[in-house]
Amino acid sequence: MRERPTPLLTFPELPARAVTQEFTPNYDDGKPVRLWYHNVPLYGVIFLLLAPHPSLLFVLIQHYLIVLENPLKFIVHLLVIYTLTFMMFSSLIVLVARDPGPVTFEEPQSDNNAEEVGLTEALMSPDFLTPGRFCRICWTSKPDRTHHCSFCGRCVLKMDHHCPWLGNRCIGHRTYPAFLHLLLCITLLAIYIAVLCAHALYYAFNNPYTVDQFSPVHEIGLVFAGVTFTIVIGSFFAYHLYLVSTNQTTLEHITPFLLLRYLPVLSNTDPNNHLSDPPLEHELSYRQRRMIKEAHGYIRVYDVGLRKNWTQVLGWKGPYGLMTRILCGGGSMGDGKYFPRGANVEERLARLAQELVQDK
Ligand SMILES: [Zn+2]
Ligand SMILES: [Zn+2]
Repeated sequence: MRERPTPLLTFPELPARAVTQEFTPNYDDGKPVRLWYHNVPLYGVIFLLLAPHPSLLFVLIQHYLIVLENPLKFIVHLLVIYTLTFMMFSSLIVLVARDPGPVTFEEPQSDNNAEEVGLTEALMSPDFLTPGRFCRICWTSKPDRTHHCSFCGRCVLKMDHHCPWLGNRCIGHRTYPAFLHLLLCITLLAIYIAVLCAHALYYAFNNPYTVDQFSPVHEIGLVFAGVTFTIVIGSFFAYHLYLVSTNQTTLEHITPFLLLRYLPVLSNTDPNNHLSDPPLEHELSYRQRRMIKEAHGYIRVYDVGLRKNWTQVLGWKGPYGLMTRILCGGGSMGDGKYFPRGANVEERLARLAQELVQDK
């Protein structure tokens, strides 16, 4: 009986749990498996967005139709409120239904004469060896700004963040404008309702005998809800305005050590310096970590100027592009794999790499 041949390539250092069933990604035909309770926060958000409407309609009817007897103002306010509500839900549907940015596996261009790339060559390729350039869970290369979401169990192009409030979905290259649009519409609607109801409440205090007993209660509740939503969602929206203006994703902004991926080859001539190339976060000393955190404040790899940054995120194509942006936000420009880098970035990164090697 023939003996079993020894395998050509083995992985003795691979942790055993990485190949067991429980740690395989949650995939079903390339899509993460979603259970019913993952959507519970989303139902909560939909409830919060719809909850003020019965009170709002009551206030509008009472104040504009019954007290002021002004149907024109009633219709105008109704139109503004429900246009914003429509826009809000259209972007919410885009966020829920659209894939945030699938990383498609690109087959290498092969002709019949070319030799097949062996497993060893594939494992020795720069993409596989460079940290952050290859996803060992999805088993595919990671384009610029792509991150692996551990919750979704997949890589997402230009991943901004994983949002539990939208039914545990990622916000990525194809859904980020819709996310901005949702925040903008909620903020505008909240401001509009707060001002409208504050005005009606002021009228009620000045004319207590002309209004009914329930309207002021609804108005106080709506002013409170409007102000709360304006502060919470408005400040979140303002933060994203800053991120778009400086061309950063939330992950890039909150993770300074992502800069390490972009460092050029270190000129490591000092035998006592044991930094990898590129350096890994845990190898850095306290001073080196401080250095990276300071550099993160002024090196913005993809910042190509305010106007171009905004065009990259919100630019539209074709005559209906602008309409799509206004109604539902849509997706960002480009394929989400290649992003131009800012001027002087390479120079600053080279200087940082040099300082990093010199400082231990
Ligand atoms: Zn991945
Ligand atoms: Zn995710």
